Amino acid sequence: MSWKKLSALPVLLTCVLCFAQTNSDQISEKARHIHDSAIVIDTHADTPQRFVDENFDIGNITPVTEGNVDLEKAKAGNLGAEFFSIWVEPHANKGREAHRAMDLIDSVYEQAQRHPDQMVMAYSAEDIVRARSGKQKKLAALMGIEGGHAIEGDIRLLRDFYRLGVRYMTLTWSNTNDIGDSSGDINDPKVEHHDGLTPFGKQVVAEMNRLGMMVDISHVADKTFWDAIAVTRAPVIASHSSARALTDVPRNMTDDMLRAVAKNGGVVDVNFFAGFLNDDYRKALDAQEKDQRAAVQAYIDQRKAEGLPVDYGNYEKIQREWLAKIPRPPLKVLIDHIDHVAKVAGIDHVGLGSDFDGVSGGLPAGMDSVADLPKITQALLDRGYSADDIHKILGGNLLRVFREVERVAKQMHAEQPAGAPSMKSSAPAQH
Ligand SMILES: [Zn+2]
Repeated sequence: MSWKKLSALPVLLTCVLCFAQTNSDQISEKARHIHDSAIVIDTHADTPQRFVDENFDIGNITPVTEGNVDLEKAKAGNLGAEFFSIWVEPHANKGREAHRAMDLIDSVYEQAQRHPDQMVMAYSAEDIVRARSGKQKKLAALMGIEGGHAIEGDIRLLRDFYRLGVRYMTLTWSNTNDIGDSSGDINDPKVEHHDGLTPFGKQVVAEMNRLGMMVDISHVADKTFWDAIAVTRAPVIASHSSARALTDVPRNMTDDMLRAVAKNGGVVDVNFFAGFLNDDYRKALDAQEKDQRAAVQAYIDQRKAEGLPVDYGNYEKIQREWLAKIPRPPLKVLIDHIDHVAKVAGIDHVGLGSDFDGVSGGLPAGMDSVADLPKITQALLDRGYSADDIHKILGGNLLRVFREVERVAKQMHAEQPAGAPSMKSSAPAQH
């Protein structure tokens, strides 16, 4: 029985069901209350790709096999704020990275404009709180750039993106860039690495601190992480990263890193992708990698031969078909990672960073969309987490970090009102 039907049942019957409950597919009245009284924040969804490449309207209800985020599902899951990912695929957008980022930013604004009664652009922690106050709760829409190459090596563009509303940036995506090394290619000898954060990268972190843009360390190589932690004046976030102690992939964070984020006052928002949560899934993924890549290449070649463009929607469809061949792990694996981060970093340093609409359906069983977020609350309650602790995980921690980042920015503005004149990654004088 879905939680929707459950909540519509008379009180007596729902209580009977509460006691009979054996798994977190059923949401108890208590869990529902805890969940609905929280400001739920997800720090990473790739939905803007769908807005731009598939003409997807967030007001449309689509099956979970097509998308993880829409306004109806957000309401069902009491999602309060979504950080929409401004993800710039580096190869297809070479030389026009900022342009692609601008297209994606535009798409988020356009969606908010189409649905003013349900969705509102947000630029601060207070904006999120405001969007969730009053009678008509709206989805607060925020933006985070995924991949520091989007600023094309120009601090001025970083500032422009901040002015357009971007409130975090991952220093790298899966590719090493002029800001620092990425975990995605750190073992590739063909890639020229920098031994962590570059001198330009250090300037980028400093300017992000000054602007009030959260420094996001998801995707970076370990050395880049440690360098960023050493130079940042504000708490960092990992917008979508899981725990390496449980699933050994370079993209996940070691326990030492989790502790360092805690010391820094930041937050690690756990990624829902099954490949980062479960070894069996990961192995199955590795085993099919070659064939999957060949299938994608065949599609690209075919489109090229026909003189047609290669779009994200079709590309994603192929990946989705391949991932569907792998059995999904249970929801428990996601909760294990949240629990691990909560235990190692502390309850004040863990949150949610789903990666919805970016993982082609490769999600734990039962976690099909933002409508399923209450299942996390139920599972945490089942593990003995208090209502206060659950509220922290669901969004309270991110709000605290966001406010602190804003406070540090204010302080730095007082020290240095204007940004550095022009810092370009290619200018040796700046290094
Ligand atoms: Zn990512």
